[in-house]
Amino acid sequence: MILTREELMPSCACGKEHSLITEKIFIARGAADAMPDAMGESGLRADFAVIYDGNTRDALGGRIRGAHREIVLDPKGLHADERGVAAAEDKLGGETILVAAGSGTVHVITRFIAAKRGAALISVPTAASVDGFAAGVAAMTLGGFKVTRPAVAPRLVFADTEVFARAPRRLTASGFGDAIGKYVSLADWETARILTGEYWCSGVAELMQTALEEAAAAAPGIAAGEEEGCEKLMQALILSGVAMQLVGTSRPASGAEHHISHLTEIGVPWLPAVDKLHGEKVGVGTLLSLRAYFRWRVQQSDALVRAMQAWRQPSEDMLRAEFGPAADAVIAENAEDCLRAVTPDAIRQKWTAVKARLSLLPQAAAVEKLLRSVGAPTALEELGIDPDLEGRILRWSPYVRNRLTFMRLMGASSAVSDIHCCLGALE
Ligand SMILES: [Zn+2]
Ligand SMILES: [Zn+2]
Repeated sequence: MILTREELMPSCACGKEHSLITEKIFIARGAADAMPDAMGESGLRADFAVIYDGNTRDALGGRIRGAHREIVLDPKGLHADERGVAAAEDKLGGETILVAAGSGTVHVITRFIAAKRGAALISVPTAASVDGFAAGVAAMTLGGFKVTRPAVAPRLVFADTEVFARAPRRLTASGFGDAIGKYVSLADWETARILTGEYWCSGVAELMQTALEEAAAAAPGIAAGEEEGCEKLMQALILSGVAMQLVGTSRPASGAEHHISHLTEIGVPWLPAVDKLHGEKVGVGTLLSLRAYFRWRVQQSDALVRAMQAWRQPSEDMLRAEFGPAADAVIAENAEDCLRAVTPDAIRQKWTAVKARLSLLPQAAAVEKLLRSVGAPTALEELGIDPDLEGRILRWSPYVRNRLTFMRLMGASSAVSDIHCCLGALE
């Protein structure tokens, strides 16, 4: 399939002037063959450098032709950090077009460097493993901290089915977990709109929801490594980046499920270091969120109103006890508690609408089956986390980001009221 910028522009009445750097997306067998012509049509005629890692260069097997320079990074210990960036930059010349040819890490490094030098970016994903291929930001580890830096979104994307459908199964399963998480992100985004009037775009939400449902329906094909199914997954992952570009934030693609994943990465003292792929953690976070949302949406609005009236942001001492070395960053992030935007009146008036939106979520059991069918983890134990920590994870993960989610609202409510069903062990 070929998706063009014109087709991807939402028809909506959200009031925002959407912009999209990405002009064309090729997801097909032999997509890389379209590179020379498509680059020419987009005016990308200058010398270009390709950045691979050793594995992705082999996977592409000479499909990218005409490069002025090829940089092959050592995949061992390669991370999106200062070392990874320096390893690529040291070998670059004056090229003004950079091609990211790989999976997540190569893309993050390349789009970060492209932003630094004002270069144009072309994306050639080699595995359907993460959702950031078309994103305009880079989640990096700099100075030992996870940070998000401005980066360049790709002008063109060439996802060659023959390459990514043959990627290691674990990478594809991880990408499926990342994609399936959008059920929760989209529900969180719309819930925030209903309760606080936060900016929301029906066109972008629909674009994402449709791609997500197509990927979910393709699970049997993905599990079997069939090209058609893998294309649906790749489409959903690339469109997540497109959705982020269209609204200018990660809102459509990151909610409570990503906060759970993120919590395992920032070194909180009571969680072990989890050496798993991003999408594997997001998949488990999605199941925890779906189960919690299912239980919580039966709350009565009166109890919630009382809870919000009693609500106080956790003290700095509490946050320090929970987050340890990451506490300074968490305290700074939450200086303006996003829950303050949720007024008791909003709960009174909008609770029925919130419940209606949450009732559109799929059953956790169905999503668990899908994840399992593609070989993705489905339980905390599989991530090496004690399942007894679930309640604590649900309660504190929303604080990694000051973004209103249903998880944040319910976790807070349970902390100050008689709403006891929210936390603790699951049935
Ligand atoms: Zn993700
Ligand atoms: Zn819009």
